Amino acid sequence: MAGLVNGVFRPKVSKYLRQLIKHVQETEGEDSGAYKALVNQYVYSEKEEEKHEEVNLKHYEAIVEEDDSKGLPKGIERLYRRQLVIDITMVCAAHCRYCLRAYYDTSQLKKSDIDRIVEYCAKDINLKEVLVTGGDPFMVPNLLKYLITTLVEKAPNIKVVRIGTRVPVQEPKMLNDEMFSFLKNYSKSLMIEVAIQINHPIELQPVTLEILRKLQDSGVRIYSQNVLLKDVNDDIDTLITLYDELRYLGIEAHYLFHSIPMKGTNHLRTSVAKGLKLIKQLTSSGMISGRVKPTYALMTYIGKVTLYDGTILKKDDSGYLHIKTNYRVSDRQIWNETYQLPKDQAYEDEDGFIIAKYLDGDDHTHIAVNLIDGDK
Ligand code: SF4
Repeated sequence: MAGLVNGVFRPKVSKYLRQLIKHVQETEGEDSGAYKALVNQYVYSEKEEEKHEEVNLKHYEAIVEEDDSKGLPKGIERLYRRQLVIDITMVCAAHCRYCLRAYYDTSQLKKSDIDRIVEYCAKDINLKEVLVTGGDPFMVPNLLKYLITTLVEKAPNIKVVRIGTRVPVQEPKMLNDEMFSFLKNYSKSLMIEVAIQINHPIELQPVTLEILRKLQDSGVRIYSQNVLLKDVNDDIDTLITLYDELRYLGIEAHYLFHSIPMKGTNHLRTSVAKGLKLIKQLTSSGMISGRVKPTYALMTYIGKVTLYDGTILKKDDSGYLHIKTNYRVSDRQIWNETYQLPKDQAYEDEDGFIIAKYLDGDDHTHIAVNLIDGDK
């Protein structure tokens, strides 16, 4: 379960991952990129306890405050008109060392909470899509099935269910035939998508490939949103191999996220500039199929922002990039009446658009000024 022990994200490495790490250590050695990719993602490092400027304890601020009198249920987050995030559980098969879930409440939803969430969904016809996450929804298969079944019965406005998971790369055998036949059945009633996160090609082991194929055979679409991590995948050759593999597996590339400024993750974060350099090489070099180009994005405290020319307005003396967005507080409050702008992490410009402040990583004391207003 996500959560802290003595201020440190409790280490948890699944049996499957422990065996894989050992196998890669024996066959490829500790200096190999594959070994480092696994260890850096999952194995606790003392560097996590060093003091740095990364202090975030959440991905973003979007919780809908529970209020029975207003029909606002527990366990949901909302930033956008069409989508709702449902935090079904905080349990994961393994703890990724760069993940903010360490700092989230560890409680798990009950069926009665799911009933209230489905009621909320059914009442808002603007809502078309739910992202079920946490935590890992496949860790609570019965609750996940209950959610999907109830949505199909009572909230026909929901057209898409997305399931965020790392189970296929962390403990693949947890996904069994019962789940595949459930998904096959319900993917006739609504679109079911699995959002996976594969950060290095070593994670695509035969057992994982079999599970991914079975998911696809169940009518589920799979896309991958990956995280750029130092000494995991922050080199162009690894990224090219990774996206080539995803292409041949029929997995769509979604975001390549810069690693968020979470407390204890300084050693895993590259600079934003390095990510921009890599994404340019990856997507404008003719080296990978145009059908598998990821979108480079920052997960800021006010939501996801894709970087375009002029998106980075400046870098302040504290190492924060000021990121221009097209989000407005007034829009947010239509979809989530409890939304408040986190004033220490964002502000509004004169046209009412939100400017997000985002702590750069790694060499952020000397960010390439050429990010501002494009690549001069
Ligand atoms: S990235 Fe996903 S699987 Fe990893 S700890 Fe975070 S929520 Fe769990």
